[in-house]
Amino acid sequence: MAGAALAVQLDTLHAQAVGSPSDSPEKKVQLLPGLDKQLMDLSVDPCVDFWKYACGNFAKLYPIPADKSYYGPFAIVDDYSEAVLHDLLDAVSIPSAQHAPNEQKIGDYYASCMDEKAIDAEGLKPLQPELDRIAALNDKNQLTDLLAHYQMINVTAFFNYGEQQDYQDAQKQIAVVDQGGLGLPERDYYFRTGDAAEKTRREYVEHVAKMLVLMGEPAGAAATDAQKIMVLETALAKVSLDVTAMRDPNNVYHPMPVAKLAELTPEIDWPKFLVDTGVRGVTGLNVTNPDFFKGLQGALESTDLDTVKTYLRWQLINSVPAVVLPKEMDAENFDFYRRKLQGQPEQRARWKRCVEATDGALGEALGQVYVASQFSAASKSLTLQMVHDIESAMDKEIDAQAWMSAETKLKAKAKLHMVADKIGYPDRWRDYTNLKVVRGDALGNAFRATEFEAKRELAKIGKPVDRGEWGMSPPTVNAYYNPSMNDINFPAGILQAPFFDPHGTDAENYGHIGAIEGHELTHGFDDQGSQFDGNGNLSNWWTPEDKKKFDAMTDCEVNEYGSFTAVEDVKLNGKLTLGENTADNGGLRLAYVAFLEDAKRKNIDLNAKQDGYTPLQQFFLADAQNWCGTLRPELIRLRVQTDAHSPDMFRVNGVVQNMPEFGKAFGCKVDQPMMPANACHVW
Ligand SMILES: [Zn+2]
Repeated sequence: MAGAALAVQLDTLHAQAVGSPSDSPEKKVQLLPGLDKQLMDLSVDPCVDFWKYACGNFAKLYPIPADKSYYGPFAIVDDYSEAVLHDLLDAVSIPSAQHAPNEQKIGDYYASCMDEKAIDAEGLKPLQPELDRIAALNDKNQLTDLLAHYQMINVTAFFNYGEQQDYQDAQKQIAVVDQGGLGLPERDYYFRTGDAAEKTRREYVEHVAKMLVLMGEPAGAAATDAQKIMVLETALAKVSLDVTAMRDPNNVYHPMPVAKLAELTPEIDWPKFLVDTGVRGVTGLNVTNPDFFKGLQGALESTDLDTVKTYLRWQLINSVPAVVLPKEMDAENFDFYRRKLQGQPEQRARWKRCVEATDGALGEALGQVYVASQFSAASKSLTLQMVHDIESAMDKEIDAQAWMSAETKLKAKAKLHMVADKIGYPDRWRDYTNLKVVRGDALGNAFRATEFEAKRELAKIGKPVDRGEWGMSPPTVNAYYNPSMNDINFPAGILQAPFFDPHGTDAENYGHIGAIEGHELTHGFDDQGSQFDGNGNLSNWWTPEDKKKFDAMTDCEVNEYGSFTAVEDVKLNGKLTLGENTADNGGLRLAYVAFLEDAKRKNIDLNAKQDGYTPLQQFFLADAQNWCGTLRPELIRLRVQTDAHSPDMFRVNGVVQNMPEFGKAFGCKVDQPMMPANACHVW
């Protein structure tokens, strides 16, 4: 989460990858071709395990590098883009009068982050004013001021705060308070039973204790304090919703007067809190989870002031990007959050982490430079044309749904025709004039960037919505659908090979980026997106009959994916991943329909083999090769418990099983694993 941004959860294409190979920066990463035969394992029957057939050699050719827990086609493109950004940032990190103001800013930000010596020499000095604020607390009734200030620098102690489009009226931007304040990835981490879960909790408490020691506490006191922090966080977790429940917009939408929130958590002076964060004249807000704020009151009452202060110190240190902390703290943070939780053996090279930090702080300033050097107008118009083809395919698919009434079809089409297509980068760039970047002050820069972003977000409250805004920076290798905006967004970073290759065949491009475009568009009509209308309002446009039928069809996918085993004792959570699985299934079907139309238009002979494969076989292979990635077992466990996306192999096999068109293209027989008699079909 950046700054106080707390918009609706975006339906992203995949969980953002972290890490990159430990190769020297000079070694250029090669982008994959549209269809890479080397990745395939021809000893496998495509009708038995299509993922293995299409991707079976990937892990042999591209083993997971020591500084990553996942490696796959997305990570390869990430590596490539990272190297490009590295060159761009190196060039502007040397001060020069020739640089435009934004170039100087990203250069200074990056150079400060790279200055490990200065960061170590400063130690915790830059944090001292923040620590002093905690030390000065004499009474819990002084908490309001402190929490307001902390939210502005992304210290999300006790809860999260920000702005969002009002679910019921997407024209309005409102304040929102949300559950939060945990140091483990998700509420169930505090309660799950079993050896792995218990070990993680033990290691977490040890990690908190070590960080407190590094902040100057004696070891004995730190161990006791870490236990107390665990008790407090467990109390917050107890009243939190789990990740699956959070996916239902109705579960996280409870607009109420500020006075009502004040009744739930009287320990915090909410009107003052809002004013302290610069938000004036607001009488109501969204309290995502009222039970949490009622529970927060209990937790605040039953926790002594000293423990509250220790918890705040922990939340403070844990909120700072570790790359700008002194060496020992950075290493300890890596040890718990990356090595233990994700199985990543080695820390990433510093330059990679500083590229990422600069993108996080000044994404559109860096993005502007990136787009100028990497993204052509031709790529933009070609991919936009494909998006239009995918939207026409959806139009046809809506007509083709035998189960859906004419009434609901009209509404679905109205929504479809209102989807905004955003390709590459924003039409209007964000203005960073008021963000001060001081060369040599890496930690201060991080705080200022976070506060700048929090102010930008909160300033939206009460103002008209900027429909041109993006939720991802242009170099990002990902995509998303935002139900409140009703827009699909494809940053320039994902519009490169193998996903989109201006020189690739149509079969390859429709299989790759076509399916990705279809995925994002289908999000508008999955179990979550289908609850919002074309204007972005949470409003039911379904007839009760159609809704019942839709739910029955999604249940089929819940059961299908819920039966897949991800690792050892862990099965996929069919409910948590439902929206993503629906998007994967619908996305490939839309790309298929669009490709057939394209083939007709261009007279592509669907029986003519090229390199041994028909165009339709190439199409399915290209799609599968979006998802050749593998994960370390630790990361699989983490993802299955927290991530709405299924692991890569199921994103291929789970989908083609539901498409008889796939079985036909590869000559499979009914009842072979990839062609079951009872396939699921939502879109
Ligand atoms: Zn998605």
